[in-house]
Amino acid sequence: MSSMLKPLILIVEDEAPLVTMLRYNLEKQGFRVDEAADGQEAITKIAEAKPDLVLLDWMLPAMSGIEVCRQIRRRPGTRDLPVIMVTARAEEADSVRGLNTGADDYITKPFSIDLLLARIRALLRRSGTPPAKGTLKYHDITMDLAAHRVVRNGRNVHLGPTEFRLLEFFMQHPGRVFSREELLDAVWGPDIHVEPRTVDVHIRRLRKSLNAPDEVDVVRTVRAAGYALDVDSTL
Ligand code: CA
Repeated sequence: MSSMLKPLILIVEDEAPLVTMLRYNLEKQGFRVDEAADGQEAITKIAEAKPDLVLLDWMLPAMSGIEVCRQIRRRPGTRDLPVIMVTARAEEADSVRGLNTGADDYITKPFSIDLLLARIRALLRRSGTPPAKGTLKYHDITMDLAAHRVVRNGRNVHLGPTEFRLLEFFMQHPGRVFSREELLDAVWGPDIHVEPRTVDVHIRRLRKSLNAPDEVDVVRTVRAAGYALDVDSTL
């Protein structure tokens, strides 16, 4: 949450009167409000100005709230964005499904504005703590640079010093493809002269340590180009 600014709430809702009512009440309580009437607009708005919290209606035209939530969770930049799913269906199964989709909380229509405000405040409080300095996160991998510790999916990952620096560099630039030469420069240093295929050896070691048999390979090989830390293209 940006400290100096009022928290920005993105309302994704296709019922105009409900949006008007929510905007009025949220602004009165000191929030800034942005709105999107469908899923695609929501994705665009989030990319333009990342809100502090998304209030996401389940039933939207064209793209459902579930799909919007999936897309939010899939992107490294918005993976941790707090989402409250708003649903008209009270059935437990649906609610649970909403949570499995990645929503942090849900609220069933019709709801009282006081209850909604309480949920919003609670979620903002939970997400408001900035991550500890020196921690990198990507997908299910956390790197504690100070403690020199890597955890994937709750499991400690033991890396050699070169693999550690390689992963650190990748985690600073998720999704970007680097050539072997670029990786040599960044990880080994420009003055070190080693064969580009040395990179392949360390990539292999990194994969072996990082990927358990049932886990997705987070390192993508890009033919004739190099490597990237990227899970999105493999899902
Ligand atoms: Ca709706």
